[in-house]
Amino acid sequence: MAQRLDGKATANQIRERIAVEVQEFVTQTAVQPCLAAVLVGEDPASHVYVKNKETACRSVGIDSRLIRLPATVTQPELVAEIQRLNADAAVHGVLVQLPLPKHLDTQAVLDQVAPGKDVDCFHPENVGLMVQERPRFLPCTPHGVLQILQAYGLHTVGRHVVIVGRSEIVGKPMAALLSQKLGPCGSDYSNATVTLCHSRSTDLETQLRQADVVVAAIGQPQRIRGEQIKPGAVVIDVGINRTPAGLVGDVDYDSCAAVASAITPVPGGIGPLTVAMLLENTLRAARGMHHDYMTEK
Ligand code: NDP
Repeated sequence: MAQRLDGKATANQIRERIAVEVQEFVTQTAVQPCLAAVLVGEDPASHVYVKNKETACRSVGIDSRLIRLPATVTQPELVAEIQRLNADAAVHGVLVQLPLPKHLDTQAVLDQVAPGKDVDCFHPENVGLMVQERPRFLPCTPHGVLQILQAYGLHTVGRHVVIVGRSEIVGKPMAALLSQKLGPCGSDYSNATVTLCHSRSTDLETQLRQADVVVAAIGQPQRIRGEQIKPGAVVIDVGINRTPAGLVGDVDYDSCAAVASAITPVPGGIGPLTVAMLLENTLRAARGMHHDYMTEK
């Protein structure tokens, strides 16, 4: 039976460290780090995510602001709101909760977030810096995956990692980070040989059978089953799917746990780590701005 990788416990440890660092930062600078979340429309899942982020901020001493806009908001109105937050010196991190209603151009909206406040690491400048191994911010979910690998000492050097899903949020940056030389969590948790699979991959089954580590970010409930993976593989389930039976991942936990050496559950796996990494980015954003401010003086 596979070892269960406890994302909640790992995230709590990280949050405790961040809380201490926030306290030190506030003592030194008299600046309270602040995250602003922009929520458009009434998507229930988005409301839950934003609420979780607010609660998490509070738990580590970070201020949070919620800007709620109606589903009918126009692109110029939304952009104006983001620009207001960009210009507000009391706000250090700005995130736009996704998905946005269909009439809005998501990429164009995200591009408006000031790179120094882009705590989701979606801005092309931040993606570029991350890919070049000189990150300003790290993308929250892929960083969370590295954190759990590190917490359990699951090295990836020279191992074959198969990532299923190539989104800008998860799969693509995950592939970049795992194949880096230095790696944000140290070289033991990068230097992998990475295969990035997607819906057009014709040999997913073969790839999965050869994977030492599987990262599933597909968005389909329990898509990957135990009989598809190599015995002893490490299985990281990023998926969050709402089903009548509750939240499930992209991995069928029971059948995979019977074959794998280690596996993350859903819930209680990568989700809590994603939020913890968002807090880290917010503190990082506050530090960056304060540093600039000090240098300007
Ligand atoms: P997207 O829908 O943006 O991307 C899904 C990816 O999976 C696409 O690249 C798609 O391929 C690929 N895919 C779909 N079907 C198959 C298939 N049958 N075989 C192989 N590849 C397939 O999803 P996200 O990356 O945003 O999210 C993925 C999952 O992770 C979701 O369940 C989401 O809820 C969850 N998530 C969890 C987070 C957390 O904090 N734990 C954070 C973000 C997301 P193609 O590109 O060809 O369409």
